[in-house]
Amino acid sequence: MVLHELGAKINEAFRKLSKESDIDEKVLDAILKDICTALLTSDVNVMRVRELRDNVKKSVNIEELGATANKKRVIEKVVFEELCNLVDPGVQAWQPKKGKFNVIMTVGLQGSGKTTTCTKLASFYHRKGWKIGLVCADTFRAGAFDQLKQNATKAHIPYYGSYNEADPVQIAREGVEKFKQEKFEIVIVDTSGRHKQESQLFDEMTQISNSIDPDNVIFVMDGTIGQSAEAQATAFKDAVNVGSVVLTKMDGHAKGGGAISAVAATKSPIIFIGTGEHVHDIEKFSARPFISKMLGMGDIAGLVDAVKDLRIEDNKDLMQNLSKGIFTLKDLRDQLEMIMKLGSLNKIAGMIPGLPQDALKGMDSEAGTKQLKQFMCIFDSMTEKGK
Ligand code: GDP
Repeated sequence: MVLHELGAKINEAFRKLSKESDIDEKVLDAILKDICTALLTSDVNVMRVRELRDNVKKSVNIEELGATANKKRVIEKVVFEELCNLVDPGVQAWQPKKGKFNVIMTVGLQGSGKTTTCTKLASFYHRKGWKIGLVCADTFRAGAFDQLKQNATKAHIPYYGSYNEADPVQIAREGVEKFKQEKFEIVIVDTSGRHKQESQLFDEMTQISNSIDPDNVIFVMDGTIGQSAEAQATAFKDAVNVGSVVLTKMDGHAKGGGAISAVAATKSPIIFIGTGEHVHDIEKFSARPFISKMLGMGDIAGLVDAVKDLRIEDNKDLMQNLSKGIFTLKDLRDQLEMIMKLGSLNKIAGMIPGLPQDALKGMDSEAGTKQLKQFMCIFDSMTEKGK
């Protein structure tokens, strides 16, 4: 789970608080010291941590609060709100519009996870029922088109690119035009992440942007770079009109708190975080559910959303069987396949309020996934009668 360690340390501080029979200023200071140390260890900027501490101290007036239980609740609530403020840029994120052709352009440094993110985003919107296509406008890196093609094919997403055309602006324009003609609803254009010189990279981004006039420019950034995220996000924001940010490689990275809070400070809304190498390893980002999950309080809205994406009702055979009280081996196989589409089991566990953070520890390990796949292979090799 993302920032699991940070969440565990803050919860430990809350647990200490609940053991205290009398809560005074000294106890509050000790708790805040633990929380601030945990945030600093996760690479959150020292100024922001100090701000959080001062705000909690200002909001909690120990003298005026009544019973001990009440004090505990107030402290927890105020800390929760301040943690939300830390990662909330306070800016409404862009959303694609129905009935319109939505053009998204992604920018970011090579290796940040841009191409992977393009397919993850396309697959996310595809699951939500959008007609979406991908364009590879990276002609600088050899193999960029092949990578996008492979990812897109695996995720069943239509794509456009060229082995012969060297001008990325031309490819971007052609790809966008093609998908527009074919009445697609969203097109995502992947651009280059490296050039001989940084100025050339920014020039190319500007030219592509001027040519395709994107509705949203998504800046894809490696979340493991910690506090330097703020400087990088600002540089890209100044060069092209960045509308939103995707932070990648947030899976289990102890320092991820630095990137999230640093980007939030640039007022660029983080719309998704990448949580692994697979196509479903992407999570919608919004401050409250994120902090709630981090503290093991779940995210029911996110869970409902994820289950809706599975569109179980589209599986007519299963629905018919279930209505008759029948559950066959094939139904079991289909169900397992759907569950695997939700992403890692730990991710799902994190959305269920009250479930211990490590309840499903190890279950989404390579071995667990391999076992599920083995079951499916065994099933697929059975005769119709056996099923
Ligand atoms: P690009 O050069 O920016 O297009 O980067 P790629 O999409 O080729 O990704 C670079 C590497 O990062 C690849 O090995 C990806 O599998 C990996 N990667 C991308 N996103 C994530 C993520 O969210 N988590 C992890 N663990 N790896 C990621």
